[in-house]
Amino acid sequence: MEKMSPGILFLAHVDESGTNLPKAAYEALGAALDVANQLGWPLTIGLIGANVESAANSVAAAGAKRILGVSGPDFAPARYSTDAAAAEAICRAAEAEIVIAPATSRFLRALPGLAHRVKGCVDTHLTSVGVVEGKLSVTRWFYRQRLEAVVLRDARPWILLLDSGCHAAWTGTPGAGEVQTIAVTLPADAKRTVVAGVRVPKSDAQTIRPDAKLLFVAGAGWTKKQPDGKTHVQEAEALILNFLRGSGASLGGSKSLVDQSGENQAVLGFMTHLNQVGQTGSTPRHPKGLSTCCHGEEPHVVGWRFINERRAVNLDPNCGWARGKADVLYVADAFQVVAKLNQLLGQ
Ligand SMILES: Cc1cc2nc3c(=O)[nH]c(=O)nc-3n(C[C@H](O)[C@H](O)[C@H](O)COP(=O)(O)OP(=O)(O)OC[C@H]3O[C@@H](n4cnc5c(N)ncnc54)[C@H](O)[C@@H]3O)c2cc1C
Repeated sequence: MEKMSPGILFLAHVDESGTNLPKAAYEALGAALDVANQLGWPLTIGLIGANVESAANSVAAAGAKRILGVSGPDFAPARYSTDAAAAEAICRAAEAEIVIAPATSRFLRALPGLAHRVKGCVDTHLTSVGVVEGKLSVTRWFYRQRLEAVVLRDARPWILLLDSGCHAAWTGTPGAGEVQTIAVTLPADAKRTVVAGVRVPKSDAQTIRPDAKLLFVAGAGWTKKQPDGKTHVQEAEALILNFLRGSGASLGGSKSLVDQSGENQAVLGFMTHLNQVGQTGSTPRHPKGLSTCCHGEEPHVVGWRFINERRAVNLDPNCGWARGKADVLYVADAFQVVAKLNQLLGQ
């Protein structure tokens, strides 16, 4: 992009309700304001959605120089062609060197394309954005969270997508956000893709809750023969679902357990590959984690990288958790422990 000046553009899209911004956006705004203050650069806010007025009001008190908006029904759905066009129009109008945005699935698809359009650079899945010795630097993890890189770049504009849960969310009293509307003329083929609907699992099966305080992990032990020589899968299902209902925890699974579901064995019906935590699974962020009937092998535990306090229940005193991977290991029968927890939660 030819015309650029020292400045930060915070870019966001409205959430599914169409009124506010997603939580991750308020976190990215907090990071953008920190950087703008440290560099002494002005902040511009850019918003995309069917209607951006309510979102603009929610960030009116952030102290941005101006709020730019691309709005209208064409910009309601998460669609690469229209999101990239809207982001490009805002980016060109803002003429900012640095763009900070939340790493939502919608922006992770669209903003690498923005970088290409404005001849800039993009870095995704960032865990921090900061200023070190007067220079902007960002961090991200590689090789399934085993290596942390600190990245500095000369290329501008530099587009930064910050992962959720990595910065305190900006909060402020809603005010009157004055939006400067940017008109975007879309070619017909930008609207070729139509979002026909959204398919989500049944609400009682929604076990992945990124904002939960606790990650509850179930391992293959729940489906193994127990001391009486039999399996107790139905009992395991009831115990785990009751625990999730009572505690509001998010559910993770070990690879062994989720693979069994794929092989149509008699296993926990609500456990899918999306629940898998680990090297080939996800790396969720929660303040606490409780692992049950899971051995605590390294490829699994690497997914616990961002769980602050780790506890595990295992019958085996020599399991992986006992080898320094958990803060507390209860050498106990998880069926009994979770039944007792459910009783306490019921009170
Ligand atoms: C390249 C590679 C990538 C991998 N990626 C992943 C990954 O992303 N995620 C992942 O999870 N794994 C991953 N694995 C597999 C991983 O190494 C382990 O095999 C797997 O995590 C083990 O699962 P588990 O502990 O549930 O099962 P098991 O190893 O079978 O352990 C079951 C445990 O349950 C305990 N138990 C049984 N009954 C009870 C009871 N009543 N109360 C308490 N405890 C009980 C047993 O003592 C045992 O420790 C990967 C492996 C490789 C090679």
